[in-house]
Amino acid sequence: MQWKWSDLGARFETPSGILELMDDLGEAMNMAGEDLCMLGGGNPAPIPEVETCFRDAWKTLGEDPRLDAVLGAYDTAQGSPLFLEAMAEYLNERFNWDVTAENIGITNGSQTAFFQLFHLFGGKGKQILLPLSPEYIGYADQGFEPGLFRSVHGKLEITGSHRFKYRVDFDSLPLDDSVGAIAVSRPTNPTGNVLTDEEVRHLSDLALEHEVPLMIDNAYGAPFPGILFREITPFWAPHVVLTLSLSKLGLPGTRTGIVVADAPVIKRLSSMNTVIGLANGNVGQALSLPLFRSGVIETLVKDHVKPYYQDHSRHAASCWEEALGETVPWMRHEAEGTMFHWLRFPGIPGGSRELYRRLKARGVLVIPGDCFFYGLDHPAPEQQECIRVHTAMDKAKTEKGISLIAATVQELFG
Ligand code: PLP
Repeated sequence: MQWKWSDLGARFETPSGILELMDDLGEAMNMAGEDLCMLGGGNPAPIPEVETCFRDAWKTLGEDPRLDAVLGAYDTAQGSPLFLEAMAEYLNERFNWDVTAENIGITNGSQTAFFQLFHLFGGKGKQILLPLSPEYIGYADQGFEPGLFRSVHGKLEITGSHRFKYRVDFDSLPLDDSVGAIAVSRPTNPTGNVLTDEEVRHLSDLALEHEVPLMIDNAYGAPFPGILFREITPFWAPHVVLTLSLSKLGLPGTRTGIVVADAPVIKRLSSMNTVIGLANGNVGQALSLPLFRSGVIETLVKDHVKPYYQDHSRHAASCWEEALGETVPWMRHEAEGTMFHWLRFPGIPGGSRELYRRLKARGVLVIPGDCFFYGLDHPAPEQQECIRVHTAMDKAKTEKGISLIAATVQELFG
């Protein structure tokens, strides 16, 4: 049959950043087996104490009379009422916010939440402003129409030997009538940057002044999963749309995204949930509800999740120093959160795609950095010089992967 695709259907033929990488990851996993150094992808690490906790919660839920309703009934489109109330209480207790269940909405993962939110505020004639590029690859192809995003390249600040940090370039933000919302991930995937409180306040003031929402993607932030290595204050206000997720806590399979926003935003999001999928998956909410109520989530984050990722990030940092030393030009973004390191090799011959190809052939998977630069007026100077590396898997694999990356970079520089 000769399929006659719609414009939208046709777009899914072209391998876009995220689709191409997912295909590649799948293919490499099948081919390389045990020897593969999987430093791409964004799976949470298998932390034994966390896995045990969720296994126990699963058993408890299996014996709970609630199970029949969890499995046998559609949830409300906003989410399970008990979970919404517990989440509001949880956030208010920790941060002294003034949110109620009306301010909380559930989606099938926060990825889905962003697709919905971007189209609630962006589209024909309205763009989503990303003030700190490079930014999460998963947004890049979410627009129904091309050109949904307008990105502004971060200002690069040298913070030490082989170290740097991006900062929001406030002087370059094009805040005109074409902006429908501002969106940032905090901590940032891919760089591991964490916007300072001052940067967030400044963005919030600008959003308020221009009467657009500020969306903060908190997939790695506080209070959960807490993969955050510097002190910052979580931020919410009625014009802020904050998204949280159970994924990086260790439950990506449950597809549970949590949106905290002004009640009218939550209402529209719920209507979209109904139209798109009738209701959300509710297993993640049912499984985690007792853990939020009892404070177990707090303990998991404090005693296991955060220390695990911080320890692995530090370990990877020392591997970079050892493997690269002064042999080639290189710099690494400050690791302030997430499970990734962002490396730049200024002037690398062949660019990051050639590095990616050579690494893949050697059984090391990373993400080439160019996928994270989109929506810019001009290509960023470092667009072809960066890679994102997952640092939180098995330490021996990280060490091996990093030494192969170093050897390949040295080979490219000749
Ligand atoms: N936002 C960021 C910054 C992410 O890195 C991810 C996943 O890796 C998501 C959102 C989507 O996560 P999920 O849909 O699993 O909640």
